[in-house]
Amino acid sequence: MSLIVQKFGGSSVADAEGIKRVAQRVVDTQAAGHHVVVVVSAMGDSTDELLDLAAQVSPASSDAREMDMLLSAGERISMALLAMAIHGIGASAQSFTGSQAGMITDAIHGKARIIDVSPHRIRTAIEKGDIAIVAGFQGMSRDSNDITTLGRGGSDTTAVALAAALDADVCEIYTDVDGVYTADPRVVPSAQKIDTISSEEMLEMAASGAKILHLRCVEYARRFGVPIHVRSSFSHNEGTWVLPSPDDQIKIQEGEPLEQPIISGVAHDRSEAKVTVVGVPDIPGKAAEIFGIVAGTNTNIDMIVQNVSTHGSGRTDISFTLPIVDGAEALAALGEAQDRVGFESVEYNETIGKLSLIGAGMRSNPGVSYRFFRALSDAGVNIDMISTSEIRISVVTGADLLDTAVRAVHAAFELDGDITATVYAGTGR
Ligand code: ADP
Ligand code: ASP
Ligand code: MG
Repeated sequence: MSLIVQKFGGSSVADAEGIKRVAQRVVDTQAAGHHVVVVVSAMGDSTDELLDLAAQVSPASSDAREMDMLLSAGERISMALLAMAIHGIGASAQSFTGSQAGMITDAIHGKARIIDVSPHRIRTAIEKGDIAIVAGFQGMSRDSNDITTLGRGGSDTTAVALAAALDADVCEIYTDVDGVYTADPRVVPSAQKIDTISSEEMLEMAASGAKILHLRCVEYARRFGVPIHVRSSFSHNEGTWVLPSPDDQIKIQEGEPLEQPIISGVAHDRSEAKVTVVGVPDIPGKAAEIFGIVAGTNTNIDMIVQNVSTHGSGRTDISFTLPIVDGAEALAALGEAQDRVGFESVEYNETIGKLSLIGAGMRSNPGVSYRFFRALSDAGVNIDMISTSEIRISVVTGADLLDTAVRAVHAAFELDGDITATVYAGTGR
């Protein structure tokens, strides 16, 4: 009997109707002859609402342990309601918290990493014929015995980790659009659905801010060879297959071109801020000191630019981007170390946006960068920082021009389709 892991995002379980619709879909999957393990997110925007509430009772993010206790409750509400809805239509189901499902993590609150998955109770439940429902985005640390969360969007990673541990045939990620598109359909309505994408390209898309999939879920799936099918819970349309190995990609139909398209899509990200450390002494070891300080706050740095030192000054500026949520802590740590490192000041800007163009075909096609920068210049978009990988070009722009820039680049690479993409639900918050 095959095993399917199905993950339903917040917009799919936003209200009682949604939960009943998901219950029916899950029961239908089981009736078609599969074992089913379901991972749920918190209802609608309830994680954001819990964060708002926390900010009202106390100043921001001071209490990481209690924040995880709070946020993990969102997923527990969904799992219990979904189990009740499944009982209501005559099937059997049991819900489990992350720790009951054996999701063991390190002890870092708010961005815990999975260190072990021991889903004994899940196996027992499905062998008994039950549908097992697991609360996404959470686990437990064996060191601290505390509840942890994996970071925003982390339910996707719970689903893939369970799929890998249970050796599932597929991990289906149900959301509010029909799959992965060539750009966010909320920003580019003419974006086209991608039928299959390599995990390498999907990694770059997710890392560049396409929040359709959590970055760590794509990494995990690639590592363990889990096929992901991203699709909508509001339709029965075939979605996007994210295939773990390039060999699996070779499913070419007759008449199809043999080469992959040059560009798979455009991604954008508003969740980062730019930090500039001004007047850093231009001597060996200073960059290491600065990044050591930031790493000490457990922050993932993204783009980095070091300017050439102004002639004769012996000083340089180093800029980098980091998640806005980590900004305050990183600034405080830098501030404390200012005298020791010897830089002059720190500037901080949250009104930036990042735009990335992704495509494995970039490697073998000259002229991609020219076309990309031409499109941005024709659209009047000023560029602040640039970084590249073998299959990606990213730029930082002002936040106000980000949507214009995304549409201009999408059009310049002829990615626009004739059909308007459907966004079924969700607020995009
Ligand atoms: P869920 O709550 O189901 O986890 P998310 O809000 O995390 O859903 O992700 C789905 C959203 O991702 C879509 O509504 C869409 O606005 C956004 N998105 C960003 N980039 C893309 C893309 N390239 N393709 C599809 N959706 C995208
Ligand atoms: N509920 C969490 C969030 O909103 C986790 C998730 O939905 O994946 O980030
Ligand atoms: Mg998500």
